Amino acid sequence: MRSISIFGATGSIGQNTVDLIARAPDAYRVVALTGGANIAQLAQDAIRLKAEIAVTAHDEHLDDLRAALAGTGITATAGEAALIEAADRPVDWVMSAIVGAAGLAPGFRALRHGGTLALANKESLVTAGPLLLAEAQAHGATILPVDSEHSAVFQALVGEDIAAVERIIITASGGGLRDWPIAALASATVADAGAHPNWAMGQRITIDSASMFNKGMELIETREFFGVTPAQIETVIHPQSLIHALVGFNDGALMAHLGAPDMRHAIGYALNWPDRRHLPVARLDLAQIATLEFRAPDPLRYPALAIARAVMETRGRAGAVFNAAKEVALDGFIAGRIGFMDMAAVVDRTLDEITSQLCLSSSMSNLEDVLMTDHMSRQTAWAQITKMER
Ligand code: NDP
Repeated sequence: MRSISIFGATGSIGQNTVDLIARAPDAYRVVALTGGANIAQLAQDAIRLKAEIAVTAHDEHLDDLRAALAGTGITATAGEAALIEAADRPVDWVMSAIVGAAGLAPGFRALRHGGTLALANKESLVTAGPLLLAEAQAHGATILPVDSEHSAVFQALVGEDIAAVERIIITASGGGLRDWPIAALASATVADAGAHPNWAMGQRITIDSASMFNKGMELIETREFFGVTPAQIETVIHPQSLIHALVGFNDGALMAHLGAPDMRHAIGYALNWPDRRHLPVARLDLAQIATLEFRAPDPLRYPALAIARAVMETRGRAGAVFNAAKEVALDGFIAGRIGFMDMAAVVDRTLDEITSQLCLSSSMSNLEDVLMTDHMSRQTAWAQITKMER
């Protein structure tokens, strides 16, 4: 029986993970489930999966969690320290699916046991890739990608030599605004950008998909996780979202990974790795699909891609600045303070501004350094938004 913990269990990735675990309850011993504000879901899943401990990130919800778990024998705890304490409990497999920078510290901590970290939290690789990989190596831990594109690349590389890889192509749906005239993008609303043509995801990641800041994050993740150069990483718009990524080898072969847009595939692959087991995802009917389309992304429509490329070249602190600035820019857009196309300008100007204060390419030595860069970048990005409002 494998022991597992799920960080961010109440979110979209977390719930898909819970779904897979609940289908084979005898195969797993669930140690910790964590959530944020959704106490009812956290308690319900902790009881259903017979977890040992349930943790809410927010102290103010502890009483509610305790009440919901009364009489079950499941321990209820709260706060950042409690998340770390949960990550300290040794398990074979950990899902890292807390959203944002809050997911960094528990993920790092969980690596200390030398087990497997299934990494959905994009921010970990983008902001602190080299530190995270070094920590995993130091403790003999394995990191498996959960983002569908990186899981696809990982699967295409099984049994292959990374030295034989010429290029990695990350596909993009192009988001909800992909067919809008470029001139109209400046007036796109939150509702316009928040509708995804293929994937059912939260509002933030859906808007990041429309702006391609999400794809920018994925390009940076690819660079960090697979150790290839920025010149080897390409992106192509593939409106059907059925091919998640392709790997091109030095003999001209191009290996594509196809699958239905269902995150349970990538999660299940990481859960069952190195084996493959049955997963409850739709099977593709290629004759019915008939056509797969591809087109190059227009740099004027998606300025986030060029910014992400510059970040990949710079490395060091640039990923942490990029991530923080794009989160603040998104907050500014959702709050109606800036327009859709202004988000890229905020990120670009924040990177410029921080460059005048810090050496962006210098590597970071620890998590505190990452969090300091994150904090400083957020302040700078908000200042940029205020300037743009004037
Ligand atoms: P959600 O917003 O759906 O869920 C986030 C989870 O984190 C919830 O459990 C939430 O709790 C918890 N949480 C929120 N704030 C905090 C905090 N401050 N401290 C601790 N926990 C917190 O996100 P997703 O599941 O969509 O994404 C999770 C991660 O996976 C992100 O990094 C995302 O980029 C990445 N990802 C997501 C994909 C997707 O298809 N959704 C695909 C690939 C990667 P609660 O809801 O109870 O408040």
